[in-house]
Amino acid sequence: MSFTIHGVGVSAGIAIGHSRLISHALLEVAHYQIVPDLVAEEVLRFEDAVQSVKQDLVDIRRGLSKTAPAEMGAFIDTHLMILADSSLSETPKKIIRSESCNAEWALKQQLDSIVAQFEEIEDDYLRERKSDVVQVVERVIKALLGHPNQPALAEQESGMILVAHDLSPADAIQFKQHQFAAFITDVGGATSHTAILARSLNIPSIVALQHARNLIRDGELIIVDGQQGVVIVDPDKDTLAEYRLRQEQWELEQQKLKRIKQTPAVTLDGAAVELHANIEIPSDVAQTWASGATGIGLYRTEFLFMNRRDWPSEEEQFDAYRRVVEAMKGLPVTIRTLDIGADKQFDTNTIRTSTNPALGLRAIRFCLSEPQIFHAQLRAIYRASHYGQIKLLIPMLCTLSELRQTLLAIERVKDSLRADNIPFDATLPIGGMIEIPAAAIGAEAFAKHLDFLSIGTNDLIQYTLAIDRTDDTVAYLHNPLHPAVLQLVELTIRAANKAGKPVSVCGEMAGDIKLTRMLLGFGLRQFSMHPAHILAVKRQVLNTDLPKLEKQIRSILASQEPDKTEKLLAKLNA
Ligand code: PEP
Ligand code: MG
Repeated sequence: MSFTIHGVGVSAGIAIGHSRLISHALLEVAHYQIVPDLVAEEVLRFEDAVQSVKQDLVDIRRGLSKTAPAEMGAFIDTHLMILADSSLSETPKKIIRSESCNAEWALKQQLDSIVAQFEEIEDDYLRERKSDVVQVVERVIKALLGHPNQPALAEQESGMILVAHDLSPADAIQFKQHQFAAFITDVGGATSHTAILARSLNIPSIVALQHARNLIRDGELIIVDGQQGVVIVDPDKDTLAEYRLRQEQWELEQQKLKRIKQTPAVTLDGAAVELHANIEIPSDVAQTWASGATGIGLYRTEFLFMNRRDWPSEEEQFDAYRRVVEAMKGLPVTIRTLDIGADKQFDTNTIRTSTNPALGLRAIRFCLSEPQIFHAQLRAIYRASHYGQIKLLIPMLCTLSELRQTLLAIERVKDSLRADNIPFDATLPIGGMIEIPAAAIGAEAFAKHLDFLSIGTNDLIQYTLAIDRTDDTVAYLHNPLHPAVLQLVELTIRAANKAGKPVSVCGEMAGDIKLTRMLLGFGLRQFSMHPAHILAVKRQVLNTDLPKLEKQIRSILASQEPDKTEKLLAKLNA
């Protein structure tokens, strides 16, 4: 039966493909009693499920292509061994009999007890095996629930639509290596880091779909319209034909945009604009080149610190930064120091938990409290500066005192490099992110002490409007056109321009073509965004005549009503 679900589109484009549910079968486990006469049958149902999972795994093992990584075979063997272990294949049967409960519940009880035992283990490697046990149990539970188990991820993901309840930024970074056609989740806000990463996969993505993961079954045909934030499940023939046409038109449009890749971004009245790329990992440089970006305006280094149990060494970081800088062949690379905390967490246990992590020990606050980690990163960045044009960007500045402490830490790094006779760029520009309202209000003072400013509108909106950017229940309040947000953005741009310091916007507002003209009208001449948006933003720049917009810009800034601002903006873009 065909039905439609609405969410928040975070990356445009249309995808048509089959759903790939990311396993959360454990969340679906119900608990019910089995009448004594049917207990034997329930045990048989469990045995059948185990047998069918075993068969699936054997089939996958047999069907592995020659080019599949060697670890894949070993990984499946491990899962077969776990499945055969009596703690999973026998003990749940005893629980079904003794508690007269359903098979899923019995298996879940047994899993909880195994997981608790794993948590006691000192050895990291063995403790890690816990996730293998969980994955095997999920397969059995899926079989019990009648969900077909799919072959292992890497074998089948191409062209599939990833459906998840939620994904952490750490999960999403792993999916970067796969080739899904689209990405949809039940929860998440438009500027959550997961959404940003989804966008950086450059495929249609929708978040905040509420119950999509429960409503969609594995392997169902679905249409994802990332522009409208709409998912159509099991579409009829006419809808499918219509969306195939729209998909072709979208792709044609993307092809057309490529023609302006080499064209300099200059407005009709001659104002030159820099369009830079935001990247997360060194391999994003390829997409940066393909977009025609004239530099990297934000390299989010924290992803180097995730999905691992140790800290990356200075050497490892140096290697990553140097690779990016060299690959950019002399174009500027703005490296942001570690912005960890809030929704971007480490696997290491060093971070203290907080009831309000977004207001806690995040970004520069964390770095100043961990001088050794900060020192290693700064040394790696300065060492890489010898190989290209690096700018250093400090996230989440709130007070001048934080800035002074950071500058001192930088001086110590420079001294240590001089002592070690290691070359570096001593004039490397140092900039600060304006993403806390206090910093925007104090932008003039920050501009005086820094070489450039960069406005992080994702956090600026979060902190100005008091809405957690990861919380879908308040996603409806997210509004870049809120008068307070616009005034803080304009104030910061004005302060930087007055001080003669470059200023850019590197939050998601920079990549939204509806906002390009308005930001140009505010005096912005540098935008940094996901590479996928650069050409569309460039087209807006090329079609903008700034002197003609002045009056409308004043009206937008004077407007106190987001609805009215929306109308004024539509006129501005007409
Ligand atoms: C921002 O807050 O706008 C920003 C660019 O930083 P991040 O999204 O990584 O927090
Ligand atoms: Mg931020």
